[in-house]
Amino acid sequence: MAQEPRQAAQMRWLGAAQLIAVVRSEPGITRAAAAQRLGIGSGGATELVARMRQARLLDETSARTQGRGRPTTVLGPHADGPLVLAVELRAADWRLALADLDGLPQVVAQAGYVGGDLDAVLRPIANAIGAIYRRKSKRLRAVTVSAAGPISGAKLGQFTPRGWNDVDLSALTAKIPDRAGVALLLGNDATLAGLAEARTGAARSAATALYLMVAEGVGGTLVVNGEPLTGAHGAAGEYGHVPFGDPALVCPCGARGCWDLTVDGRALARHRGDAQPVDAVEYVHELLNKPTRDKPTRRAFEAVAASLGRGTGAYVNVHDPDVVTLGGVAALLRAQAPEAFNDAYLAALMSFRKDSPPPVRDAEHGEDGPLHGAVALALDDVTTAAGLADWVDRQRV
Ligand SMILES: [Zn+2]
Repeated sequence: MAQEPRQAAQMRWLGAAQLIAVVRSEPGITRAAAAQRLGIGSGGATELVARMRQARLLDETSARTQGRGRPTTVLGPHADGPLVLAVELRAADWRLALADLDGLPQVVAQAGYVGGDLDAVLRPIANAIGAIYRRKSKRLRAVTVSAAGPISGAKLGQFTPRGWNDVDLSALTAKIPDRAGVALLLGNDATLAGLAEARTGAARSAATALYLMVAEGVGGTLVVNGEPLTGAHGAAGEYGHVPFGDPALVCPCGARGCWDLTVDGRALARHRGDAQPVDAVEYVHELLNKPTRDKPTRRAFEAVAASLGRGTGAYVNVHDPDVVTLGGVAALLRAQAPEAFNDAYLAALMSFRKDSPPPVRDAEHGEDGPLHGAVALALDDVTTAAGLADWVDRQRV
């Protein structure tokens, strides 16, 4: 069959793209409710859903009805529909997770890093991605790489855990042929986790959502109407590198007085008089696991929670979010000294905000936040009208 002109094909799939957006934001929605959201009649919805089932995008299953109403159906991903792959490069290991249009990542591979140099580390991951592509070739449409470091253009600017700079991650999809047209997207882990909270987590349905996460230092993102503000090069959101801290302390980033140094395991160690920990997150967990807590440790937790609260208040002044979510070990740190956090948070707010400060919630996705965000970003790419037109073309081949 001859291909339709590109623009016409995209127009043809615009309604489908809108319906997928509705199904993604309201999983388990009925066909009738989805039609209502889109403002289309039941005849139009029936036709649209039939076309999407034939295109292996959506499927319907009958839903249990309450009362005596007519039986209805709920919309969900087609069993042979598009797949996306999330690749997560964490400090000590990597994970691969597949998801369909329901957006729920299923971890399919996980391993520690092997070898020291970049090529040796990336090769097994590229092989694992290649194996998944060979199994799912017709269905895999996009790959998102989540990494603990700033993204700059198509590169990972810095991957501190391994000491890498300016890493070109395209080697990860080297086993996927170009002709397959599988998109490769990159995202910072904190940005993706914040995106996940705004789409399906503790900041769901907030128009302006601020996400702050503590690991070694602070990262985060501001998500506005479902889209993270990533800056000109994708490197926005370095929330920790502002001088909310002690000007006497020099940060590894090169600046003085960074907030980073006052809100994580390094800060706890400093307050307790310990040497700087090798792993700042591990250090937090070690302290939390101690059966008893001496006075210096309690004071250390209070100081860290207060700094976290103060900075959170400062960013609320800056961004005016509907809601703030705390990820990484930030929620755990707040929970050790909630009063210290709250006092500092309120004290940092400008007067006119103090009466109704935005809620500060614990993130819901936990350590899977970056995977959920990576899947969401990939699905955004795959489910545009152009992406769906491309999917349909490729199914015909
Ligand atoms: Zn810094």
